[in-house]
Amino acid sequence: MIEARNVSKTYTMGSVTLQVLKGVSLRIETGSCMAITGPSGAGKSTLLHLLAGLDTPTRGEILWDGLNVAALSDAKRADFRRRTIGVVFQFYHLLPELSALENVMLPGLVDGHRNGRDLRSAATECLGQVGLLARARHRPRELSGGEQQRVAIARALITRPKLLLCDEPTGNLDSTAGSEVMSLLLGLNRQSGVGVVLVTHQAKLAELADRIIALQDGKVV
Ligand code: ADP
Repeated sequence: MIEARNVSKTYTMGSVTLQVLKGVSLRIETGSCMAITGPSGAGKSTLLHLLAGLDTPTRGEILWDGLNVAALSDAKRADFRRRTIGVVFQFYHLLPELSALENVMLPGLVDGHRNGRDLRSAATECLGQVGLLARARHRPRELSGGEQQRVAIARALITRPKLLLCDEPTGNLDSTAGSEVMSLLLGLNRQSGVGVVLVTHQAKLAELADRIIALQDGKVV
């Protein structure tokens, strides 16, 4: 379970101080599907980054299974994140020179515990989970936007995370491809029990989640 307790985040640029999150508290139960919605600039991405441990709050705490993320050493935080959290971004961030399968294998290469053959078969399984086995050898430029996002989701699954944190995963896709990616995320949540947290400004997609948290001006409303 991940919990945000009274989290605030302030950015300071020179003499300008911007309070982006103002005392946000929420709990994400293991295996649930939650949408974080709200207008542009509300602080959704900032909150997701804090939940993912990619950044630390100015005040308040992010707890992963009761552990305060900010208090962990960099190495422990990285290790926990690798084992627990998969992140999916709006712009897939695939490496153009690698095939779909190799892109999926990448996070596993960082994780030195796996041998090459195990990793390849795990990556193949993840590509199967997103319905792209037939495209394993294709480079990103040979895939549509929706397919590239599915590869990015497979890559996030390779470490068998408990939770997928997705920042506007359909934001760069047309409505058909967006719906397909959304169905895939919901299906993964229902069938394999991976928790999903989805940042979206699209109310229609947010309604498909079990729970919606609406952010406005840095607060839960
Ligand atoms: P949302 O995802 O809801 O659109 P964001 O969390 O991306 O909102 O941004 C909220 C506000 O914080 C915006 O005004 C944005 O410009 C500002 N912001 C986000 N990241 C930074 C940063 N690293 N430095 C300064 N300001 C930032």
